[in-house]
Amino acid sequence: MAENIENKESQFDSNKMDTIVALAKRRGFVYPSSEIYGGFVGVYDYGPYGTELANNIKQAWWKAMVQDEENIVGLDTAIFMHPKVWEASGHVGGFADPLVECKVCNTRSRADHLLEDVNVFADEKMSSEDINALFDEHRKEIACPKCGQKDFGEVKHFNLLVQSNLGNFSNDWGKEPTYLRGETAQGIYINFKQVLDTMRVKVPFGIAQIGKAFRNEISPRQYIFRKREFEQMEMQMFVKPEDDMGVYETWRAKRWQYYIDLGFDESHLKWHEHENLVFYAKAAWDIEYKFPFGFKELEGLHARGNYDLTQHQLYSGKDMGYLDPATNEKYIPHVVEASVGLDRTFLAVLCEFYNEDELNGEKRVVMRFPRALAPIKVAVFPLLKNKPELVAKAREVFAMLKKEMRAEFDDNGNVGKRYRRQDEIGTPHCVTIDFDTLGEEKPELKDTVTVRDRDTGEQTRVYINDLTKTLIGG
Ligand code: ATP
Repeated sequence: MAENIENKESQFDSNKMDTIVALAKRRGFVYPSSEIYGGFVGVYDYGPYGTELANNIKQAWWKAMVQDEENIVGLDTAIFMHPKVWEASGHVGGFADPLVECKVCNTRSRADHLLEDVNVFADEKMSSEDINALFDEHRKEIACPKCGQKDFGEVKHFNLLVQSNLGNFSNDWGKEPTYLRGETAQGIYINFKQVLDTMRVKVPFGIAQIGKAFRNEISPRQYIFRKREFEQMEMQMFVKPEDDMGVYETWRAKRWQYYIDLGFDESHLKWHEHENLVFYAKAAWDIEYKFPFGFKELEGLHARGNYDLTQHQLYSGKDMGYLDPATNEKYIPHVVEASVGLDRTFLAVLCEFYNEDELNGEKRVVMRFPRALAPIKVAVFPLLKNKPELVAKAREVFAMLKKEMRAEFDDNGNVGKRYRRQDEIGTPHCVTIDFDTLGEEKPELKDTVTVRDRDTGEQTRVYINDLTKTLIGG
C-alpha cells in the first residue's frame, strides 16, 4: 500500500517537473541554449522574464548578504585568474567527480549518482578506493541510465575544471592551461589582502560575490539544477580562529531564515550534514530543497579553517596574515562560507511558487512569487483596444508606473486572457483603465482604476494618484 502511494507521489512530481519546464519555456523564463542547432548539453539561456527573475534573486541575495549587514563588502572578480590559483586551491589536483562508463553504450555517468539511484549513499568526495569498493558491492543492481545494461568499467576520477587557451598562442597550450573559474570563491581569497589594505574592514568581516562559474559536469541533468555554465552567489567570512564555529552557527541560522523570509515553506527545506569532510574542513552542512526529483543541495555552508589563505600564502609567497589592532596578535583568519547557485535558487523559486487553483470557477496556473522576485510588478490594460481615449489614458498610467517599477502594457485579447497571462508569469497586480476612469457616466469615479490582486482575484478601485503607493504597499 505504502509503495503505491510513493509511486503516485513520484509520478506527480515528475509531472510537476515537466509542467514547470514547459511553462518556463512557453513564458520566456528559460530557453535551451543553441536550440536552432539542436541544443547544447548542460547550458541554458534565460529568456526575458527569466532574466528579470534572475536579477531579482541576485538583488535579494545581495540585500541580505551585503546591504543588511555592516561588515560585508562586495567584489566582482574576473573569470580568468592566474593558473597558479587553481593549483594552490587544490582544484587542479583534486577537483574531480567519480566517473563510470557503460561498457555497452559508452555512456558516462557519475558513480555517486548511480549509487544514489539504488538508494546507496555516496558522495563525490570519497576516495577512489572507497567508491570503487562501494560500486563493486552494488554493481549487480546498477543499470545504465541510457541502455539499461548492468555492465560498467572501473570508477575513475574526472577533473571538472574547464580549460581555455587564453593568452597562450603556442600549439601546445594544453600543457599550461588557463582555466575558466570553477568557483567564484577563489577570486575572493586572492583579493583578501587588497580588501584588507584598501577598505576599513576588521576581522570578522566578509566578502560577497555573484558571478559565473564553469564545471565540466560529467552528466548535467535535472534541467538547470546542474549546468556546465552557471552562476554562484558566495560569501566568505574571515574570522578569528577560535570564533569560527560560533560564526558558523550564526550563518547557518541566517541562511535558513533567508529562505523563510523569501516565502519558502519550511517543510520544503532540510539540513544535510556531510559525512566525508575534506581534511581541512571543520563542518559542512547543506540546505536542501524539496525539488520535484527529491531533496537536493541548494546551498552549502562550510567552516573551512584557514586552508584557502594558507595555500595562497604558500603558493604566492605573500603574507596572508592579519594583525589584530586590538591585541597585536597575528594570525591567518579562518573562513566560514555560504555558497549557493543562482540557477538552483531560480529552479527552487519556480517550484516553490508554482500553483494551480480555481478562480471564479475557472482553473488557472499562477506563479505566486513574492513581489520582490516577480519579473513584472504591474501590468496596465486599457479595457478595450479600439477606444483611443481608453488607450491614451492607459498609456499615461503606464508611463507613470514604469518610472517606479517594472511594468508591462497589454491590450491584446480580452481582459480575462490578459489576467491569465500575467498570472502565469506571477505579476502581483493588474491595473485596468475603463470608462469610469474617464468619468463619463460617474464623475465621482473619474481618475480611478481597477487594481486586481493576483492571489485573491479581488478588484479594488484606486485613485491614479494613490496607485504607486498601493502597489508597493500591498
Ligand atoms: P553538487 O554536490 O550538487 O555537485 P557541490 O557541492 O559541488 O554541488 P559547491 O562546489 O559547494 O557545490 O558549490 C556551491 C553551490 O553552487 C551549490 O550549492 C550549488 O547551488 C551551486 N552549484 C554547484 N555546481 C553547480 C552546477 N553544476 N550547476 C548549477 N549550480 C551548481
